Amino acid sequence: MRPFTLESTSDATLRLFLKRVRTHDLMAFLQCCTPEAVERILRCLSSRSMEFMRTAHWGVNAPERVARAEALLEQCAAGTEECIFCAILEGRAPASFIYRDDTVAAFMDLYPVTPGHLLIIPTAHAASLTEVAPAVAAHIMELAQRLGRAVSASNLGCDGFNLFLANGGAAGQDIFHSHLHILPRFHGDGFGFRFPGHYPQEAKREMLDQQAAHLRAYLTE
Ligand SMILES: [Zn+2]
Repeated sequence: MRPFTLESTSDATLRLFLKRVRTHDLMAFLQCCTPEAVERILRCLSSRSMEFMRTAHWGVNAPERVARAEALLEQCAAGTEECIFCAILEGRAPASFIYRDDTVAAFMDLYPVTPGHLLIIPTAHAASLTEVAPAVAAHIMELAQRLGRAVSASNLGCDGFNLFLANGGAAGQDIFHSHLHILPRFHGDGFGFRFPGHYPQEAKREMLDQQAAHLRAYLTE
């Protein structure tokens, strides 16, 4: 595999790529970059991501992960990203709808993690939850309540359900049209979250108070 030099890639393109790339794809891609390109990419990350990435084990250099990262980088450079959810809403791609009105829609996930896994999306394109109009965000949560009741009452036979909403590639977002997952849960279904090695370790109150005060200063309407 050729080493990536990124000479013709702008910092703006790199930053967009780093917002969107999945962590494991990035780790595989970095293993195919020249040392100079690796340094440049790491310096475009947030300071804490850079710190984590410098000490993380980058795992196996899987070719499909490198190819996915390379394709994403090309799309970011060319500005040619096709939004599959907008294509679904415009009828250019199929989906199994459960609900649709003027501002929100719900349909079955094409790659269900558990039986009955579905998605709620705003009908107006918004990459992140932070870009969704507040009234629409409230409507999404209201629909999540109704659909949560529906999956619980249905013959799926689930014992609970999760809501999951990822913002950014580092958080596990792979389609950049904001979407809320509803995941029906079953005892022994094999799905779960993986926690870092230090968890659970109680934090110092002083540090939590400092973080809360810091975040309060950033809280806007
Ligand atoms: Zn879209």
